[in-house]
Amino acid sequence: GLTGRLQNVFSKLRGKGKVSEDDVNEAMREVRLALLEADVNFKVVKEFVAKVKEKSIGKEVMDSFTPGMIIIDIVNKELTELMGGSQAKLAKANKGPTVIMMVGLQGAGKTTTSAKLAKLLQKQNSRPLLVAADIYRPAAIKQLEVLGEQIKVPVFSLGDKVSPVEIAKQGLQHAKDNGNDYLIVDTAGRLHIDEELMEELRQIHTEVNPDEVLLVVDAMTGQDAVNVADNFNTQLTLTGVVLTKLDGDTRGGAALSVKAVTGCPIKFAALGEKIDALEPFHPERMASRILGMGDMLSLIEKAQSNIDVEKAKEMERKMRNAEFTFDDFLEQMDQVKKLGPLDQIMDMIPGMGKMKQAKDIKVDDKQMGRIEAIVFSMTKQEKQHPEMIDHKRRKRIATGSGTNIAEVNRLIKQFDEMRRMMKQFSDMMGPKGPKGKAM
Ligand code: GDP
Ligand code: MG
Repeated sequence: GLTGRLQNVFSKLRGKGKVSEDDVNEAMREVRLALLEADVNFKVVKEFVAKVKEKSIGKEVMDSFTPGMIIIDIVNKELTELMGGSQAKLAKANKGPTVIMMVGLQGAGKTTTSAKLAKLLQKQNSRPLLVAADIYRPAAIKQLEVLGEQIKVPVFSLGDKVSPVEIAKQGLQHAKDNGNDYLIVDTAGRLHIDEELMEELRQIHTEVNPDEVLLVVDAMTGQDAVNVADNFNTQLTLTGVVLTKLDGDTRGGAALSVKAVTGCPIKFAALGEKIDALEPFHPERMASRILGMGDMLSLIEKAQSNIDVEKAKEMERKMRNAEFTFDDFLEQMDQVKKLGPLDQIMDMIPGMGKMKQAKDIKVDDKQMGRIEAIVFSMTKQEKQHPEMIDHKRRKRIATGSGTNIAEVNRLIKQFDEMRRMMKQFSDMMGPKGPKGKAM
């Protein structure tokens, strides 16, 4: 899938000590292919790749300590922008009920989403009213009534012998009379867009003057969903899109293209058939989901603002040349501590959480303090040449640090282990990432 392919591109980038313009071009070629394969609109892909390339090819990025990381970060930010940047909120009427009209093709998920949205609003202490305005699909009214019953939200219906325009009109009056603050109108769909459907929707629109016209599209249909959105938007002026079936095996194309092609923000995402499987759409979260990196991104940001680049570079050199000493170890611990509680950092690094469990390595901050005390009790020589610390010296260090000899033994034994751990950490942050690992 898209996530796997992008991760491949990035692990290649991270594996490079220096990133050249050719590397960026090669990476962007692969990003381009990955996006096209994920059914993202080709124009969108073209513009996206051009933007990322422009920001990535530059002295600032390429000369940095973590060029691969910065490029991943650029891709993440641009993906977020592509999907609208920040979360698009639902409109609220100044006066009277906020009217939300749900439109879309048959089977997209309008009826289900109407009920889900009602549930979401109800949780925020609103009093929504659902309106059953699909008189064509057999049992569509019943479907909405059953869902309404399930979530204890009233459903307004007049059967299937009254016109949808009339149902919507009376539904709005009912909401006003009963103090409902949201009116959600579930409309009919067709298998394809046709003039008859559009005309009816326009009439309902004129009648109830909605604050929101939400187009419900099936994310599984990829670019078709985007074309449908574009088409509806020219005929009806949408205020937002709801992407459904994101729980399925979607290729991501719809999520990535809708905003760029139609100018309409995605306001909600549906991730399942269950009634509470609807959430406000967060471009940022979707981007990290597509990149498959979750908290890794926040760790990258933290590292970029907190790690002393010069020191880290020097440390890396030392580790590679096996010159790493207890002094460096202390300094490295300082750097790592700047990122936050150690436990959390470890959990943010893919693979580290598992390693922590498997090796039963204690990495809480209290433990760090004891380790520091032991190292502080070593002489300058001992810190530089750990191999010279014999039994007698260990006893002295234990006494001096207020620990015991077993702990000193363990630390020295674990020094190698820790060094490897720090090395792995430094690999994560630095340019010489292990090929194909972690991310
Ligand atoms: P409508 O014709 O647009 O009103 O579509 P429905 O609301 O009747 O939904 C059509 C089918 O899609 C139903 O079987 C729903 O359970 C299913 N569905 C709707 N949203 C989702 C979703 O987010 N995930 C999954 N897996 N199925 C969904
Ligand atoms: Mg329906």
